[in-house]
Amino acid sequence: MLILEKYRDLVPPNSLDEIYLLGKRLEGKSILHVNATAVGGGVAEILSRLVPLLVELGMTARWDVIKGGEDFYSVTKKFHNALHGGAEEVTPKDFAVYTDTLDMNLTQMTLDQDIIFIHDPQPVALVKKRRQTKNTWIWRCHIDLSHPNLNVWDFLKPYVEQYDASVASAPSFAQKLSIPQVLIAPSIDPLSEKNRDMTAAEINSVLEKLNIPTDKPLVTQVSRFDRLKDPLGVIEAFEKIKPYVDARLLLAGGTADDDPEGAQVLSEVRERAGHDSDILVMCLPPTSHLEINAIQRVSTVVIQKSLREGFGLTVTEALWKGKPVIAGAAGGIPLQITHKYSGILTHSVEGTAYWLKQLLSEPAYAKKMGENGREHVRHNFLITRQLRDYMLLFLAVQQPGQEMIRL
Ligand code: UDP
Repeated sequence: MLILEKYRDLVPPNSLDEIYLLGKRLEGKSILHVNATAVGGGVAEILSRLVPLLVELGMTARWDVIKGGEDFYSVTKKFHNALHGGAEEVTPKDFAVYTDTLDMNLTQMTLDQDIIFIHDPQPVALVKKRRQTKNTWIWRCHIDLSHPNLNVWDFLKPYVEQYDASVASAPSFAQKLSIPQVLIAPSIDPLSEKNRDMTAAEINSVLEKLNIPTDKPLVTQVSRFDRLKDPLGVIEAFEKIKPYVDARLLLAGGTADDDPEGAQVLSEVRERAGHDSDILVMCLPPTSHLEINAIQRVSTVVIQKSLREGFGLTVTEALWKGKPVIAGAAGGIPLQITHKYSGILTHSVEGTAYWLKQLLSEPAYAKKMGENGREHVRHNFLITRQLRDYMLLFLAVQQPGQEMIRL
């Protein structure tokens, strides 16, 4: 059975037929995806599922990861925080570390595929090589670019403008650019270990292994330990409602290879949680897909209290599992949640606490919200929709100057 056929009963009718049609137009094309980490974070998650589907449709699709030392990843983490609007001090030496690392990578990469698809700021400067190639270059930015720190953005922008198109996850991330900008939201794979259905016995065995008790309603945030995910704010909100509702909080997450700050944030979170037996802090290895699946499924309410966010795949994952989600109104999260219909959008610790208390005390309301969220995800945020959008984009960029793509 084709991998794609396995999605037929999960996705909206006709989605697959449209994909096969687009696939025929792209048969034989070679596509190279490049990013900065093979595991951890949303980009790696999506690529690991998308590349095999492109191959099945007849394209030669590959995925490469750039290499860099610790100094490079500290610089790109600074870039990341700065692009999210943080007041990072990025020095000329930092910029030099960045360009030297990319130059070193360029000596080892051919980059002659029909379409070079570069993900996020870390590998953006690979586009220098396009002067020697005649192929199409796409830059796909997964992060929140709505208020970038100009020191870093002014450095990156001349690279971005050498691409044929740039792709963003939410309308608010659009920038003034001389190249076309395309909006394509990310997606989840409903058949991956992270999202597939699980039996009650499977869920229980994972919870036993992880030592997660289920005697009380469970409130969860699954996220890398990153300040922009506001784990301390989650604890604060939980503590506000504790006198009124008996529940347990679980902060589960790991760190990504390209995120050197993770360990420090984790230790701050552990310290803040103290010895409260109702607050569990769990550091999971990057391969914990089934574990995260089980944790999300057993949660009564899922929180994603991001202060800044690219898209927030964890929100989609929880909605797909029919969970009521309370999330920060940042980045792509408002695309996923219509406030009080398919989840709750908040802007503060107080708002998060208020809605947490509300949802824990009104299970029927919470359940309805989760059901609405699942349908919204089915129509907008499953991998087949993203596959279709990417293929449409490939066709569009391969026909420059044409106002209309003939299918
Ligand atoms: N994730 C994971 N392990 C963790 C924390 C997160 O596998 O310890 C996954 C999570 O389930 C989701 C992705 O990593 O699929 C995070 O994507 P999101 O867009 O929420 O945030 P990012 O980490 O990319 O900022």
